Amino acid sequence: MSVLVFADTSEGIYKKSTLETVSYAKAISDLLGSELVAVSMNATDNTALQNYGANQIVNVQSASLNNKQYAATLTQIAKEKNSTVVVLGNNAIGNSVAPLIAAQLKAGYTSNVVAVPINTAPFTVVRKNFSGKAFGQTQILSEVKVIGLAKNSFGIVEKPTTATVTDFQATETNTTLASVSVDKNSGKIAIADADIVVSGGRGLKEASNFSLIEDLAEVLGAATACSKPVSDMGWRPHSEHVGQTGKPVAANLYIAVAISGAIQHLAGVNASKTKVVINTDPEAPFFKAADYGIVGDAFEVVPKLIEKLKAFKAENA
Ligand SMILES: Cc1cc2nc3c(=O)[nH]c(=O)nc-3n(C[C@H](O)[C@H](O)[C@H](O)COP(=O)(O)OP(=O)(O)OC[C@H]3O[C@@H](n4cnc5c(N)ncnc54)[C@H](O)[C@@H]3O)c2cc1C
Repeated sequence: MSVLVFADTSEGIYKKSTLETVSYAKAISDLLGSELVAVSMNATDNTALQNYGANQIVNVQSASLNNKQYAATLTQIAKEKNSTVVVLGNNAIGNSVAPLIAAQLKAGYTSNVVAVPINTAPFTVVRKNFSGKAFGQTQILSEVKVIGLAKNSFGIVEKPTTATVTDFQATETNTTLASVSVDKNSGKIAIADADIVVSGGRGLKEASNFSLIEDLAEVLGAATACSKPVSDMGWRPHSEHVGQTGKPVAANLYIAVAISGAIQHLAGVNASKTKVVINTDPEAPFFKAADYGIVGDAFEVVPKLIEKLKAFKAENA
């Protein structure tokens, strides 16, 4: 018996969200008294997974697997390792691969899970609904369970151990899809992986004023984002649009500058741990969702913030 976790990488490095997913899977394996098997995908150094409790590391190296092949690989390893629980992160790849694995293993699949199971018989997990506005308990009644972990819900927990490492040869025969190219924003921090996101809204008035957002993001080591109208008007690229119809943000710190806080915007950002809002209008709806609010003009507040942060960094260098 084992718990299997999918440890995907970005350019060979485990993402923070992957380490969180592995930490979470370790907690389940402890609960069940079983081994944790981590399937490491294209990592330059897979031994890092030992720090988060993996007892076995199955090393897969393949540049060209598509989602169906990921699912086939994970399914085959899950069968070989007699896995009763398979854990993936709720990210783009996890969301598309998890249902395929569940179908192949005849398993129940629950996404958006936010905590370790509250019961193992029946196996009961807590998941969030409606962009985190409600929480529900779900029993997974199948023998094998597939779980999608919501980002930023468990945290990264070190549990050093020694793992056995084996290589696995994935089948790369082409099926129906092949990825032919990927365009990445080079040199920029991706919103999905960012710890801190600085986001600007229509209140910044024109595209050139987004230098304020970029400057604040640079000093914080943050990703930049924006509200929908800002990308609709072409002030910022669509890849930065966050919200219900844009990218979801689950950062540790989300700083919203001159964004009103419409429900469609909040739906995409309220998984963030701490929200700071800067807005001239004390009645802006975002203040109700904020942890910290500054009622003030972004053109005065943000430069002061940058100045203070730079001074703080210089003092603490
Ligand atoms: C189906 C649907 C889906 C949508 N999906 C999304 C989505 O995914 N993401 C999204 O963002 N929106 C989405 N929207 C749009 C959403 O309803 C809002 O219209 C949008 O979020 C407003 O953007 P904003 O806050 O930047 O602009 P505004 O509503 O114009 O707000 C600007 C804010 O800036 C403040 N401000 C002005 N000047 C300053 C200053 N100098 N300093 C500080 N503050 C200042 C104002 O007080 C105001 O609160 C969607 C709408 C629909 C109908």
